[in-house]
Amino acid sequence: MEENIIVCENVSYKYNDNAKLAVDHVNFQVKKGEFLVVLGRNGSGKSTIAKHINAILVPTGGKVYVENLDTSDEKNTWNIRNKAGMVFQNPDNQIVATIVEEDVAFGPENLGVPPKEIRARVDECLKRVNMYEYRRHAPHLLSGGQKQRVAIAGVLAMRPDCIIFDESTAMLDPSGRREVMSTIKEINSKYNMTVILITHYMEEAVEADRIIVVDEGKIKMEGSPRNIFSQVSKMKKIGLDVPQMTELAYELRNSGVDIKPDILTIDEMVSELCRLK
Ligand code: ADP
Ligand code: MG
Repeated sequence: MEENIIVCENVSYKYNDNAKLAVDHVNFQVKKGEFLVVLGRNGSGKSTIAKHINAILVPTGGKVYVENLDTSDEKNTWNIRNKAGMVFQNPDNQIVATIVEEDVAFGPENLGVPPKEIRARVDECLKRVNMYEYRRHAPHLLSGGQKQRVAIAGVLAMRPDCIIFDESTAMLDPSGRREVMSTIKEINSKYNMTVILITHYMEEAVEADRIIVVDEGKIKMEGSPRNIFSQVSKMKKIGLDVPQMTELAYELRNSGVDIKPDILTIDEMVSELCRLK
């Protein structure tokens, strides 16, 4: 169970000879079934790292292994792309067909999966994202959250071992964001899919098994959500927020209230305030 699905060893990447390193000697592993969140300001290198995991980019220094396959070896590219799926920010750029189920079928069709098997996968994956009843609908009439769930079904239909979400909730309204987050959590917990989630929403990051904080192409922090978010001043220095309740606990402590520093949720805040009273 504790097997690493992704291994990044001293990974560096430069977009061109004159540019600075967009990724600067990065080391990390992702375990099978893990829910890893990547945080960092705009331009810190998150997407560049993400693109290394499905071999859209190959490192200019160091090595990336996906299930022990070296991404720098072209013979592995096809396999790696099938193992590591990617869901992007804008759902409109990911939907290619005019009917939901055809869209979900597109990936497996390209993989040469037999039609009967495609049919089964499309139904199964639409059910997994709770979009089965929309299978004959036109994607452009769906809400942002629904479109993004169709995009997730399309990736699931290719049977990857890992899915990378690159700010996939960023363009959604709060309810769409909640829908997509609960879908992401469910495919991780119920179907044991390895998830790498890049996000700006700290409330989403709280759900992670582990968080990596990237700044200027380097990994600056790594730990559990509770561990990362309790380091409020360090996060602020990097230019990142912490969850609202963690921030509130931080402010209360600064004004002399003896409250736990590592509160993450409203429930925890409530019980801590009750204890103080
Ligand atoms: P993030 O996803 O955290 O916002 P990126 O990985 O997109 O960060 O960018 C990291 C750095 O690489 C930034 O300095 C950005 O300007 C640069 N960069 C990103 N994409 C390209 C590109 N296609 N060509 C040149 N530089 C790029
Ligand atoms: Mg990005």
